[in-house]
Amino acid sequence: MSDRDTLPPGPGKGSLSIEEASALWRSYQEGGATPCPRDAGALALSIDAGNAYRFVCTRCGTSTIWFEVTATGVQYRTMPPPVMGPDDDDD
Ligand SMILES: [Zn+2]
Repeated sequence: MSDRDTLPPGPGKGSLSIEEASALWRSYQEGGATPCPRDAGALALSIDAGNAYRFVCTRCGTSTIWFEVTATGVQYRTMPPPVMGPDDDDD
């Protein structure tokens, strides 16, 4: 897959890979810029109830897959969204 340098065909609404998400997360944690890989737009960080994260471009709508952050790094979200929080009150 080497479509990295080609322009997106449509509105550019697609999912970025876990590798891209990982790189963006690392940059985010370091306080660096996290521009959209597609059009360098601003990325907004979404957090869902299951402590999964996702970057969404505010300009073109491109988003990363939902991912979790573990001690070893970024990985795909493995757990489904919890119905009731386990014993982890983040309130
Ligand atoms: Zn974008």
